[in-house]
Amino acid sequence: MEHKKEIKVMDPRLRAIRNNLREIIYLRWDQEGLQLIQAQSHLLDAHLSQEEKLLIHLQLEENFKQNRNLMKNSIIMCGWCHQRDKDAIYNPSNRQWFCPDCYNEHEEEIINKTSIVY
Ligand SMILES: [Zn+2]
Repeated sequence: MEHKKEIKVMDPRLRAIRNNLREIIYLRWDQEGLQLIQAQSHLLDAHLSQEEKLLIHLQLEENFKQNRNLMKNSIIMCGWCHQRDKDAIYNPSNRQWFCPDCYNEHEEEIINKTSIVY
């Protein structure tokens, strides 16, 4: 997407469905992140060579980075306040979604940044 885009859901029942779907996706994402952290922790006690541990560690780091980027650019949560129950505005300069409140309050900062660390 190359242009600013706003998605509003007016129907309360559709909002509830949207919010529930977002919550399910978020919880699954969060669970995967926790599993990656636990895998890193278990790696310290694993009976493996340092080289094997390093290779696994690097793979886990890559998986963690991919996992984080999934949420960073998703419409599931606001890129600024991280709330998950609001309408969303897409900002093409950093390819992130923001709730209308944050977008309107921080528009200049959001538009001028090429990347917002989530
Ligand atoms: Zn927000």
